[in-house]
Amino acid sequence: MGGMTSPTTRPTTDPAAAPAAAEPRRVLLAAPRGYCAGVDRAVVTVEKALELYGPPVYVRKQIVHNKHVVETLEKRGAVFVEDTGEVPEGALVVFSAHGVAPAVHAEARRRELKAIDATCPLVTKVHAEARRFAHQDYDILLIGHAGHEEVEGTSGEAPDNIHLVQGPDDVDDVVVRDPSRVVWLSQTTLSVDETAQTVERLRERLPLLQDPPSDDICYATQNRQVAVKAVAEQSDLVLVVGSRNSSNSVRLVEVALESGAGASHLVDNASEVDEAWLEGVRTVGVTSGASVPEVLVDEVLSWLAERGFGDVETVTSTEENMLFALPPDIRRGLRATSGEDQAGEARDAVR
Ligand code: SF4
Repeated sequence: MGGMTSPTTRPTTDPAAAPAAAEPRRVLLAAPRGYCAGVDRAVVTVEKALELYGPPVYVRKQIVHNKHVVETLEKRGAVFVEDTGEVPEGALVVFSAHGVAPAVHAEARRRELKAIDATCPLVTKVHAEARRFAHQDYDILLIGHAGHEEVEGTSGEAPDNIHLVQGPDDVDDVVVRDPSRVVWLSQTTLSVDETAQTVERLRERLPLLQDPPSDDICYATQNRQVAVKAVAEQSDLVLVVGSRNSSNSVRLVEVALESGAGASHLVDNASEVDEAWLEGVRTVGVTSGASVPEVLVDEVLSWLAERGFGDVETVTSTEENMLFALPPDIRRGLRATSGEDQAGEARDAVR
């Protein structure tokens, strides 16, 4: 879920670290990886909206940060726009998994759009925390990346109370009104370790800093980072399947490098893997970001198999069974289609 570049190689200076020629080639496949419950819900929301109401279904911003997902939905009739101002009055618009500021909801109402909100419930939870602490007149230090849609949405809940802190280097510039009424919140897709460093630095300056009521970095982000660590420490190369504007995917590359991978690269699909990266490599770790369909991972595994890396071992660090209910408008529409007056009731459901 903001796009940013990151270093993709770590220098290996220890010649003893070079893999022995006789060592077999293998792939370590991280689990869990790929789709999280919030992404699955958002993608299914657009698919069901297309089925129930027919194209075009407008979607504000990329529904999830994955090129393949967006292109597939476009082919089925989804129209992606940057702003609700581009949606014709009265049309159907879906808000993406990353969430929107209250001003966007207000604009949609003003223009009489039929809005379906696919914001991930775990992002909605952070919005609620922001509103609650702002109501109590706290200064809120939001750790996150400037320009990311989720950060824009959360900041819009309490623009006068929220201060963005992008990382440990921002801490010295933080100014608050009352050091005894300060809380930190965060974007859901950050590096767990880097966020802990930022909080530690903040607490050195603000000893009364309060923690969020529960983790803001979501279960899926945390689980995928733990999983990539488990494979990175045994891998000469880690391939992370994900788009460059996917924050959680970019974080996986960083975590892989910090955890001992010889090199790590972010690729949208198999066509972006460079054969030169395999030189001297015996173990390739593979994982994918939370917005990545498994078919893209399968293609990377096939590409690797064709080059001698057909031995795939799955390294499971935890099991996931999270599932979120679809937005109420879609559930109502689906119930209506199972009744007699299917089309009419389904249309009414989002009015
Ligand atoms: Fe929700 Fe986390 Fe998935 Fe984002 S990465 S959509 S916050 S579950």
